[in-house]
Amino acid sequence: MTPREKVMTAIELKHGTVPVVPQITYATAPIVGISFQEGMNDAEKMARALVAGYKTLGYDGIYAGWESSFNLVAEAMGCTLKSGAGGMPSVSSGVVGETADVTKLAGVDPERDGRLPVHLKAIELVRREAGDDVPIFRYVPGPFTLSSLLRGQSAFLGDLIRNQDLVRAILRPATESAKRFAEAAVEHGADIVVVADPMASTSVISPKRFEEFALPYLKEVMTAIGKAGGIPSLHICGMTAPILRKMVETGARIVELDHLVDLKKAKEEIGNVACIQGNIDPVSILLRGRPEDVEKCALNCIAEAGQSGGFILSSGCEVPLGAPLENIRTMVTAAQGPGEENQTN
Ligand SMILES: [Zn+2]
Repeated sequence: MTPREKVMTAIELKHGTVPVVPQITYATAPIVGISFQEGMNDAEKMARALVAGYKTLGYDGIYAGWESSFNLVAEAMGCTLKSGAGGMPSVSSGVVGETADVTKLAGVDPERDGRLPVHLKAIELVRREAGDDVPIFRYVPGPFTLSSLLRGQSAFLGDLIRNQDLVRAILRPATESAKRFAEAAVEHGADIVVVADPMASTSVISPKRFEEFALPYLKEVMTAIGKAGGIPSLHICGMTAPILRKMVETGARIVELDHLVDLKKAKEEIGNVACIQGNIDPVSILLRGRPEDVEKCALNCIAEAGQSGGFILSSGCEVPLGAPLENIRTMVTAAQGPGEENQTN
């Protein structure tokens, strides 16, 4: 079976070999000897590292990206980024100070705005270099998280209590931008579009707020992905056990779960309606753990959720920069068995 066939079998909830797709992007930079910063503005370097990761480590899907999609789209909508730890950018301040500012916000043009064209080009290059046998995953921002960045996170959480009209007003252009970037990603070669909405987790907001301020907008984005010919997936880090059914209700065919969520219970609750992906702890296991910790955790995930198909072994969130490649290799071997780790067709 090709990696694409393995992943599609899991998405179709059929029994088959458990595919393994770590959410690894910039952590592949050391394989080709570049830094995080060298890849972030250069489609060719970014793609070279991403394809090298796939060919060297032999996993079953490529995440074609390099930094948080919500930062990228917030930047394309006018936010300024600042450089944080390890050169990793984050949004320094929002662009919506008052209601009047919202009317100036329009959905992005992914072919033109910010660094979105660089990322679309990288998807094309990955497709060309890695071939058609491997599925390409691409993160796009969830409307709720993107809105929180456009407004500033603490102000936005305050608005959820005191100024819900403003929240709804910001969600409109944010949803439009997410849809447009998602459609462009499919057009440029992405197979699976992963909507990342970490601010919508129950670690941050209540299930009731999720239902009102995240769910309807996520549904719009998932529908747009499906219409464009892509497979919609939903990634919410942190705790999501109380909203698993609502995550499926968005229309996502894959639900990506972070390490806090009990995989066995999740499988029982939604395993017959959506493919589950997860959930090795990216920091304490993949970054700081030993290969034997990774193996134990990977086999445990497979035992809990991978026995009857409909499961993709993955990290709970993005693999951190500096995670030992040996740990990723161990994760791949745990799913594929020894001797197959370099199989890339
Ligand atoms: Zn995450």
